[in-house]
Amino acid sequence: MTFIITTPLYYVNDKPHLGSVYTTIICDSIARYKRLRGEKVIFITGVDEHGLKIQRTALNNGVSPKEHCDTISDIFKNNWLEWNISFNKFIRTTSQEHEKVVHEFYEKVKASNDIYMGEQKGWYCVGCEEFKDNPDNSPSYKCPIHKKNLEWKNETNLFFRLSKYQAAIEELIQDQEFIEPKERRNEIINFVSKGLKDFSISRTNLDWGIRVPDHLNHTFYVWFDALLGYVSAISSGDSNYSLDLSIKSGWPASLHIIGKDILRFHAIYWPAMLISAGMKPPKKIFGHGFLTREGQKMGKSLGNILDPEILLNKYGQESVRWYLLKDISLGSDGDFQDRRFVDIINNDLANTIGNLLNRTISMSCKWFNNQTPSISEKNNNEIITLANNSIKNYLNYFDNYKIDKATNEILNFAINVNLYLNKKEPWSLIKDDNNINDVKLIIYNVLEATRIIGILIKPILPEFSNKILAQLGENDIANKNWEESLKWGLLPESNKLQKPIPIINKLDYE
Ligand SMILES: [Zn+2]
Repeated sequence: MTFIITTPLYYVNDKPHLGSVYTTIICDSIARYKRLRGEKVIFITGVDEHGLKIQRTALNNGVSPKEHCDTISDIFKNNWLEWNISFNKFIRTTSQEHEKVVHEFYEKVKASNDIYMGEQKGWYCVGCEEFKDNPDNSPSYKCPIHKKNLEWKNETNLFFRLSKYQAAIEELIQDQEFIEPKERRNEIINFVSKGLKDFSISRTNLDWGIRVPDHLNHTFYVWFDALLGYVSAISSGDSNYSLDLSIKSGWPASLHIIGKDILRFHAIYWPAMLISAGMKPPKKIFGHGFLTREGQKMGKSLGNILDPEILLNKYGQESVRWYLLKDISLGSDGDFQDRRFVDIINNDLANTIGNLLNRTISMSCKWFNNQTPSISEKNNNEIITLANNSIKNYLNYFDNYKIDKATNEILNFAINVNLYLNKKEPWSLIKDDNNINDVKLIIYNVLEATRIIGILIKPILPEFSNKILAQLGENDIANKNWEESLKWGLLPESNKLQKPIPIINKLDYE
């Protein structure tokens, strides 16, 4: 079975912000984990390029919408490569592949008699690209999110018969597995219980979009365009790209990771559209939280937006990955604090893991001729029990997308191994020749523990993992079965060790 995981298709009004980086890093760690567990993975990301806002932004910048989208799409793609994101598909909604799939999907929904022409009038926010429910209740005709004036619109649009799927959606969201986290699921259940209304799927007088085949003055509205990117992406890159090929190649998606602000569209609109087209709904929607900075919401007006590129250049991508994955529980809001960031990287990666590896390799090199020690027996001992417990917990957490807990499990194991080393004091024992076998066993245990850490940390910090394993002389790890390599005692005796150099430099707080 294929595991299909997606980021949202990011809107190309601007380059990636920290929130998009966060979502994409989450997906990347899960995709890497699933691959290591031996699953076939299709990791999808991409960009949502249509709409009035893009058209206007391009106009303001004095370029065509196409030129604007080309530029920003390239920035996204290159950014993900810089962040070492292991995506398999990058879909653009302006691509021919995507347009074809949107058209084929529309025909299927139409054949289910779920499309009709209707009147839509009301106050519209260009920023949100949506009609606002009842502006009469608000003190001014302004978007509560964008604080900009709403525009009055009166349009004849195509509608999708969402109301017909009330029972189907109610049944779907009863499934505990479908929406996570739990609190968000309750919001959706509550919303659905009030009764679903049909929604418009097209706009007139908007050129920058995919044309509706049988109503050429209409273009498809965002959800009937962008959401389909999850499907079109699957067969993109194949010369026979089509809706059917995408379905044959693994649809439905196993996991949509999104920000909590777009949960309603993913958990209600999207499955209803899919059921209408005779397709399966996704298996799980996970709405993650938002990021604040030093306890404050980030925004242009506050001037406190944290540019991910600055973080990347200053601290390196893996430090940022560690912080976001370890410090924020998936589904909860998270806070980015400079001081805390520096402290966590220095404590966890430089001291607890990096220094453990460094000092143990140094001892082994000095006492055992630059090799791992040869030991008479690998008895049951406290370290083996610790390792096996950590591995079991880690796998269980990761399988349930509790990435922060899985990450902390690695760290706690490393803390315990440090305690073991400090308690055993091999540097004192070595002074008496009679202790040599004890010293060999202690050093072997710690080196073997760092090997396990190197393997467990692979989906979280792939480069850091490679550095740990390389120093232990374990260079061909990519050719081994990941899960089997977690068995205790696989570090060969008399293995040639690399010269101990710090695998990560400490960060300075400015
Ligand atoms: Zn708005």
